[in-house]
Amino acid sequence: MWKNWSGSQTSAAAMANPGTVAQLQSLVRGAGGVLRPVGAGHSFTPLVTGSSQILRLDRLERPAVISSRPGRARVNANARLHELSAALGNKGQAFRNLGDINVQTLAGAMSTATHGTGREMPCIAAEMTSAQLLTGSGDVIEIRGEDLPGVQVSLGLLGILLEIELNTVPAFNLRRRVGVRSFEQLLGQMHNNWTEHRCYEFFLLPHSGKGVQISHDVTEAAPGKSPLDLDAVGLQVMKIASALRRVHPALQRQVLALMMVLQGEEDYVGESWRVLSSSREMRFNEMEYHLPPEAAEAVLREINSLVETRHPEVWFPIEVRQTAGDSAWLSPFQGGPRVSVAVHMHGGQNYAGFFRDCESIFRAAGGRPHWGKLHGLKRQDLEALYPDLGKFDELRARLDPKDLFLSPALAGLFRP
Ligand SMILES: Cc1cc2nc3c(=O)[nH]c(=O)nc-3n(C[C@H](O)[C@H](O)[C@H](O)COP(=O)(O)OP(=O)(O)OC[C@H]3O[C@@H](n4cnc5c(N)ncnc54)[C@H](O)[C@@H]3O)c2cc1C
Repeated sequence: MWKNWSGSQTSAAAMANPGTVAQLQSLVRGAGGVLRPVGAGHSFTPLVTGSSQILRLDRLERPAVISSRPGRARVNANARLHELSAALGNKGQAFRNLGDINVQTLAGAMSTATHGTGREMPCIAAEMTSAQLLTGSGDVIEIRGEDLPGVQVSLGLLGILLEIELNTVPAFNLRRRVGVRSFEQLLGQMHNNWTEHRCYEFFLLPHSGKGVQISHDVTEAAPGKSPLDLDAVGLQVMKIASALRRVHPALQRQVLALMMVLQGEEDYVGESWRVLSSSREMRFNEMEYHLPPEAAEAVLREINSLVETRHPEVWFPIEVRQTAGDSAWLSPFQGGPRVSVAVHMHGGQNYAGFFRDCESIFRAAGGRPHWGKLHGLKRQDLEALYPDLGKFDELRARLDPKDLFLSPALAGLFRP
């Protein structure tokens, strides 16, 4: 039985794990039903379920970095981001930016427009300059030029990515600074902070009136000793504080206030990819919407008051980031920068009511959802949000004319 990282999506479909492209081609050409490629299974949405077969691609023989020159590398699309980061680092290169974790495959991360944070930092998919794709007819083709913006963010609907060529930057070190600020300081200064720092984000901590901000800036300084990763401990404390709320609401605030005092300030230097990504041990479910930057402050105030008044059970931090615009047809960042607001609930909690209430706030503000995180959009919503959806439909009709990769859940969104 396949299940995703949070356990919210499961499938009893047969799994295939071909070792060669020829085996993959015969699976595609002989398929009797829908096939869905899977990466690390870190998406929360039903991107893989509903198929008759799930294709794992981690046995396809390829070096992590196939070739490279300054500013460009051709890599194994199905390698994990941390493997690629280490292999690029050996060649003096790096990803320009990364998200919170680095265990996803590159193909999976690009297919859903996975992003980090930074006003000038586009999502990872925008760095794709060409790609080798195995189409619905089993042919292996190279994608570049006018079809590229269709493939950059494509949810495994156009074929199976085998190799990806992407922009890289010379390897660099980052200085990470972490500190506690009040809710008002965070909202009042967020746009300045995005201007001042290469990468900037913050986590609002429900019921505390505070949050934790994190900035990353390029430095020539040498890497130091990385501090202990106390995120998991912090989350445990927040979970316990939430349980204490049932005894008396003041107890939750007192525990959180003490936690903020103990948090202190953090300041250290490390290789970019090691500093940007951390591990996430505690399971959660997540919804993230990407908003026009000018809408972010009002949305954050509404979400905060929703938590305080109607959803006191929510205790997981709310993450706020910004990503630069790009031109991929299905990118939520197409056409300009977006501020991303991510709401989470612990894996054991029922998230439906809270996420539904958040989604109506996000949608009223013109938000577009993260493709790998929970949302309730329908085809007509996509038509309103994505001006190039028609171009994507045409490309999909050309590359997957028999709907081999179109599961029922995806058909509801991508069948015109
Ligand atoms: C703990 C955690 C932290 C996260 N942090 C971030 C973050 O900081 N920023 C962010 O933006 N997102 C984040 N995400 C979301 C995550 O990055 C995306 O859901 C991403 O798609 C997961 O990559 P994956 O390899 O697990 O792909 P999967 O979830 O397995 O697949 C994603 C999509 O890619 C397709 N796919 C996979 N391989 C191929 C292939 N070879 N060819 C064609 N299509 C393919 C699949 O069919 C599917 O449609 C996080 C998720 C978790 C669970």
